Amino acid sequence: MIKNLRDELGKKEVVVEAWIQDYRSSGKITFLILRDLYDVYQGVVKNKKIDLSQESFVRIKGYLKDAVLKSNELTIKDKELVVEEIEIVSPADPLPIPIVEKGVNTGLDKRLDYRYLDIRKPSVRAIFRIESTIINSFRRFFYDKGFIEIQPPGIIATSTEGGTDLFPIKYFEKKAFLAQSPQLYKQLGAISLGRVFSTSPVWRAEKHNTTRHLNEIRQLDIEVAMADDMEVMKLLEECIQFIVRSVKKENKEDLGLLGINLVVPKAVYLSYDGAIKELNNAGYSILHGEDLDPGAERKLAELYPDSIIFVHSWPIELKPFYIWPKDKNKGISAGFDALLNGLEISSGGQRIHKPEVLIGVLKEKGLNPENFKWYIDAFRYGAPPHSGWSIGLERITMALLRIENIREVTLFPRDRHRLTP
Ligand code: ATP
Ligand code: MG
Repeated sequence: MIKNLRDELGKKEVVVEAWIQDYRSSGKITFLILRDLYDVYQGVVKNKKIDLSQESFVRIKGYLKDAVLKSNELTIKDKELVVEEIEIVSPADPLPIPIVEKGVNTGLDKRLDYRYLDIRKPSVRAIFRIESTIINSFRRFFYDKGFIEIQPPGIIATSTEGGTDLFPIKYFEKKAFLAQSPQLYKQLGAISLGRVFSTSPVWRAEKHNTTRHLNEIRQLDIEVAMADDMEVMKLLEECIQFIVRSVKKENKEDLGLLGINLVVPKAVYLSYDGAIKELNNAGYSILHGEDLDPGAERKLAELYPDSIIFVHSWPIELKPFYIWPKDKNKGISAGFDALLNGLEISSGGQRIHKPEVLIGVLKEKGLNPENFKWYIDAFRYGAPPHSGWSIGLERITMALLRIENIREVTLFPRDRHRLTP
């Protein structure tokens, strides 16, 4: 396992492994800037000729300067590693992109071409450490509440959203698709297993070209039996607050590196009607019956800073077929969206658990109930009412870190034009 300098602090003789971020020779002394998984520090080599190149991976035996070792509160800063032995474990060719940006910054596209190098940058690495805490704290939150993690299939036979474009695949003699959501399957989990969550990749074939859409994303989903839309919104509120508190606690250094001061968001609940009214009152003109566009989402964030904004009770026609019609006469559904820092991070709602209601809505939406037979039939055997939601992992990461482009928070993004690396 890679040995970082901070794990060796306090020892007389240290053995560390690191990348040579940079080096410079003056006479018989060579100064190394070394970078391990946590720190960047200086090494000094005396009277040795070594073949060096940026980003070569090395193993070093040496000692830390006395002055530093005497101090009780050791910090890596101002430390110097005196190199006694150095082994080039793996040499590096000339770099296609710099790890330390000097002058003009490398464009995102080029950085993504060499993403495996790009993620060596401490500020990029910090994003993925934080994303890891987000997914882990999501799991912990629901695990502690007695939920079980399920593994929905990634290959499906029918569309779960109706309108959404799917990636078709050849499945022996049949036609199949990559799942664009675990929606239907997590519902089937909830009606028999009670409380379920999943963390799964999904694929969406829309020809997006935006800074907030990709064609492959990760979703953090829950589905709960005997809960309505309001109850799962409360769970979402508490879950996001728990995630933010966890990141603040576990990623102090990473947040410092990114210059982010995270605030645990409070929750604001608005009905769709109320949100449309508030937007218009604030000078953002939007018609009743329209979806919230990115401008509207940003405007709401201006009105309610540092908040999770829930917009609930949407018109039935703006929500997917499986959403419960809360008030048929008023045309109101039990669907909701959650916005954070001006971005939709989650959608959810109460689902339809009655076969006849489901068939009615499918027909109204111009979908053929025959294509959903297995799904409809699943609700014929004592299916409890149930609700849930789905957070986009990349969306919540970019919203929290206020990063503009979703590609920055995706390890190896898949968009309309990018399939490698
Ligand atoms: P949007 O309206 O923002 O395009 P959506 O309403 O189509 O998203 P949902 O079906 O509600 O998306 O998916 C649940 C969540 O998954 C969204 O709230 C969002 O966080 C995330 N998400 C959905 N599609 C994408 C995508 N193409 N790229 C990135 N994240 C996405
Ligand atoms: Mg949505």
